Amino acid sequence: MSFNKLTIDDIDLKGKRVLIRVDFNVPVDNGVVADDTRLKATLPTVSKTIESGGKAILMSHLGRPKGQKKPEFSLKPVAEAFGNLLGKEVTFVDDCLGSKATEAVNTMQDGDCLLLENLRFYPGEEKNDPEMAKSLAILADVYVNDAFGAAHRAHASTAGVPLVVQPAVAGYLMKKEIEYLGNAVANPKRPFVAILGGAKISGKIDVISNLMDKVNRILIGGGMAYTFFVAKNYNVGNSLVEKDRIDMAKEILTRAKSSKCQFVLPVDSMIATDIDSSAVNTKSAPAEKIPDGWMGVDIGPKTRSLFREKLADAKTVVWNGPMGIFEKTSFAKGTIEIASILSKITQKGATTIVGGGDSASAVKKAGFTDKITHISTGGGASLEFLEGKELPGVTALTDK
Ligand code: AMP
Repeated sequence: MSFNKLTIDDIDLKGKRVLIRVDFNVPVDNGVVADDTRLKATLPTVSKTIESGGKAILMSHLGRPKGQKKPEFSLKPVAEAFGNLLGKEVTFVDDCLGSKATEAVNTMQDGDCLLLENLRFYPGEEKNDPEMAKSLAILADVYVNDAFGAAHRAHASTAGVPLVVQPAVAGYLMKKEIEYLGNAVANPKRPFVAILGGAKISGKIDVISNLMDKVNRILIGGGMAYTFFVAKNYNVGNSLVEKDRIDMAKEILTRAKSSKCQFVLPVDSMIATDIDSSAVNTKSAPAEKIPDGWMGVDIGPKTRSLFREKLADAKTVVWNGPMGIFEKTSFAKGTIEIASILSKITQKGATTIVGGGDSASAVKKAGFTDKITHISTGGGASLEFLEGKELPGVTALTDK
């Protein structure tokens, strides 16, 4: 799949005010950036801009301040952390609109970099208010979107500004994300296997549906497996079940029977009586027989072997969602096993893509980050991409 939008390589940046939408929505604990993966991923685009003599004006959201100026959602600590990575001062401007922003931009020299305050301090951002888009647009000669993690949202900074500022181009991270995901889905080397986990079937139903026509196998783990188990009349004890999705699960199982895609559910589970106490009582149980009073917290040993088998010859894999409650070490084995299998098959030449969010942090925690072909910086955006939906932040960019 070739990328059909203009990119930062197609435009002249010298002397230009380059307004770059980045995804600096990173965890900040007590004023310190706790995970700088997204900051590092943005470096190529920002470095290219400043090295080409452009003025890099960065804008992002952070968290959900819901249209209010809440200091705990300030991007100030992020400006400092990003400056350290860039090896250059990143001026922080404590507003993203109005005279403060305009004056700061007017004093920039070519090759300077500044970061505007959180876009979501204004309600117009999430409402895609054209006035907000215009107020941001006056800061720019050209617009770059490098915020793949926000590309599934039609907000003022992702969908509004590019209507006003042209050309509107993709940054390197945006291009890379779309190319990896796009190629995997459009031109996969086979067998092509999807691994889907996470808490709920409701969040992944469209992905399952879309991928069923494209992949050779779908492996299901995590909390969502139990709704499928109920659909098969298994005893699931206290496991997480979405009662209002049981019919949907039945429909998928029926569709899977006539599909060429192999639909693989866990054959056993790790189960526990209490997930919160420190002395966790845990054991494995067959999928169809989780005793009353127990809940499924991870895939079991037989499922780990089964999934290893189903992945052994895979040439393309996409993975989204943990296999269990991986935040707790006692229930993380299945998720870590998947990360480990993917790192091994990557070494043997498979293309492995992890769809952001929890699976990405599990891969990181297990130390396999460098051994996976591509780890997406956008959980929600990559899911919507895998659902086959258009991403408004990409659609809005100028066609090649
Ligand atoms: P999602 O955002 O849908 O990908 O779900 C991620 C969450 O699913 C993580 O916080 C996991 O702890 C949770 N999860 C995975 N497996 C289970 C399970 N068996 N029961 C309850 N929650 C689970």
